[in-house]
Amino acid sequence: MRPALLNPLFRPVTSLAGIGPKTGAALSRLLDAPEGEEARVVDLLFHLPVALVDRRNQPGVALAPEGAIVTLKVRIDRHQKPPRGNRRVPYRVFAHDDTGEVALTFFHAPEGWVEKLLPVGETRYVSGRMEWFNGRPSMVHPDHVVPEADFASLPLIEPVYPMTAGITKKLMLRAVDDALGSVPALPDWLDGPLRRKHQWPDFADALRIAHHPSTALDFSPESKPLTRLAYDELLASQLALALMRAHQRKSVGRGRKGDGSVSAKVIAALPFQLTGSQRLAVAEINADLAKPERMLRLLQGDVGSGKTVVALLASATVIEAGAQAAIMAPTELLARQHARTVTRLAEAAGIRAAVLTGRERGKERDAIIAGLADGSIDLLIGTHALFQAGVDFADLALVVVDEQHRFGVHQRLALSAKGGATDVLVMTATPIPRTLELTYYGDMDVSRLTEKPAGRRPITTSVVSSTRMEEVVERIRARTTEGAKAYWICPLVEESDVLDVTAAEERFKALKKILGPIVGLVHGKMAPTERDAAMTDFAAGRVQVLVATTVVEVGVDVPDATIIVIEHAERFGLAQLHQLRGRVGRSDLPSTCLLLYKGPLGQVAEERLKIMRETEDGFVIAEKDLELRGGGETLGTRQSGMPGFRLAHPEHQSALMETARDDARLIVETDPDLKSPRGAALRVLLYLFGRDAAIRLIRAG
Ligand code: ADP
Ligand code: MG
Repeated sequence: MRPALLNPLFRPVTSLAGIGPKTGAALSRLLDAPEGEEARVVDLLFHLPVALVDRRNQPGVALAPEGAIVTLKVRIDRHQKPPRGNRRVPYRVFAHDDTGEVALTFFHAPEGWVEKLLPVGETRYVSGRMEWFNGRPSMVHPDHVVPEADFASLPLIEPVYPMTAGITKKLMLRAVDDALGSVPALPDWLDGPLRRKHQWPDFADALRIAHHPSTALDFSPESKPLTRLAYDELLASQLALALMRAHQRKSVGRGRKGDGSVSAKVIAALPFQLTGSQRLAVAEINADLAKPERMLRLLQGDVGSGKTVVALLASATVIEAGAQAAIMAPTELLARQHARTVTRLAEAAGIRAAVLTGRERGKERDAIIAGLADGSIDLLIGTHALFQAGVDFADLALVVVDEQHRFGVHQRLALSAKGGATDVLVMTATPIPRTLELTYYGDMDVSRLTEKPAGRRPITTSVVSSTRMEEVVERIRARTTEGAKAYWICPLVEESDVLDVTAAEERFKALKKILGPIVGLVHGKMAPTERDAAMTDFAAGRVQVLVATTVVEVGVDVPDATIIVIEHAERFGLAQLHQLRGRVGRSDLPSTCLLLYKGPLGQVAEERLKIMRETEDGFVIAEKDLELRGGGETLGTRQSGMPGFRLAHPEHQSALMETARDDARLIVETDPDLKSPRGAALRVLLYLFGRDAAIRLIRAG
């Protein structure tokens, strides 16, 4: 149960001043509330300003630069009302200071309102953006107008929030103020000496200052209030991880020792030799499986490093021990692909395997579910969703999660908490810069596939302007006549699935006209059976040019595809480009990647493409990516952020993160059930940042 103390922060935003059902819906979208749910007050409080408007500049009318935000102290001279009936002419109020005259301009403003706001003969402070027309200064719709005596009420430093249609600035400020007013006095969860060392304000004050910075310094990410809030979030995250790990270590697993018989058959059926790091990873996993503690291991390997075989060999071990294994893929497409690769090997090794996705229905589905329950199926291949829906196994010993890009570490742990005594192996191709490992992996055990399978040839990457499209198509024609296979990737169009698909369909039609029936199409909006058919055709060679949206990004494996064309490569991030390129270079044939761009290129886009041309190393690319996103970046320009973090920037706060980890470890050692007074405060912290799943584990354990 959430501490009652926090109730005011977990109210829906519609309970705030000025927020009705309609604005509430807009606000909920802005705050990323889950589909169909309303954002809560705490979500608004964690929505920090991204910029400041500085109104301290008071240069005088004549010296106010074009486009600058300034504050002017002026005397009101006369009102020039628009002619009756002509609403296009603005209402102008002329005013002056010692340096010159300025026109304060209003469109569609009620007359009486302007008269009251700017009475002739009086002095007012006006603040807003200066515009110069033909040498005449004006200010259109000043943001603030206050009498001389009320100067103090003029916000000289004003926060700017990311906004969305349906919310005005005024509404936002008012709602935030109301929300700040309802922050209760909370017990401090921070370690006293740490807080004193950094001279951090308490939580409520930190929030207040973060929303009402009084100087530009308050707004810097290194400021005391913002660092404190970031630390709170990092601590909540690390503490949740530490609690879950402790729980997991305590919960009894079962030791599964294989005799190597099934694995040997799988290995014998492989058309290649395992790499050294594949062997090492299998050995590490087998050692974990043999121990009575539960395994939570991450298998990290760049695209094409051969993770699937490792998953199959791990499954073989538990099957030898008489238990079952499940391999879960993020999408149906990938589940089917795993099934295709694995089935042949499984047959050779006498493993009874089945596929279960949303597609199997009726009798077929019933038979599979029965087979899992009575143990006549050894290995299940399916989608994540299915595992969560709770299919019953006779004796499930191992779950392998083939992970979608940037699956959060918390989700991983939640998953592992589900399967009773099940061991969990998570596979990821996301290369993580060293500085971020802690955030992503917590203190999971990690196996790494550091070498590529033998005989792999480097991929030649070229950056080509899309004005040379015809040449590119000709080149594809020449190569496909020789038997080559190519992916042709069309990017997301302005984040819209629909346009995205249209672009791909159009490219498909255009290429088909030129290259004929060897062109196929696959995109996310197709029926799964159609998508499957397209992939199968491509794998079998009936289709040689596969036009695709980014659905092929994760994990698709057609080893003899050797060309990938990426259209509008400038729109992709580095990680995505790397994943996409990883679809080729999967055999001993030389491969090519053509990055088509549409100029002019921005500096960052150009740099990205250059990096892609220079290296294939996922780690180097990840580090560069981090660099490009910028160490000096401010809150507002953050592009993609880290999943699950709202106030912290783990990518730039690794020292803070390490402190949080040590802090969390100490807490779990000395007060594992969070029973001390600080423990009670820490529970509040976990709820505040939505990490309370960890608390339920303490109870259950
Ligand atoms: P990823 O790590 O990206 O999931 P996959 O498991 O899909 O990689 O493997 C990529 C390709 O490499 C597959 O076609 C697979 O059969 C092949 N492969 C895996 N291990 C080896 C190896 N040791 N030698 C040669 N090819 C391998
Ligand atoms: Mg894979």
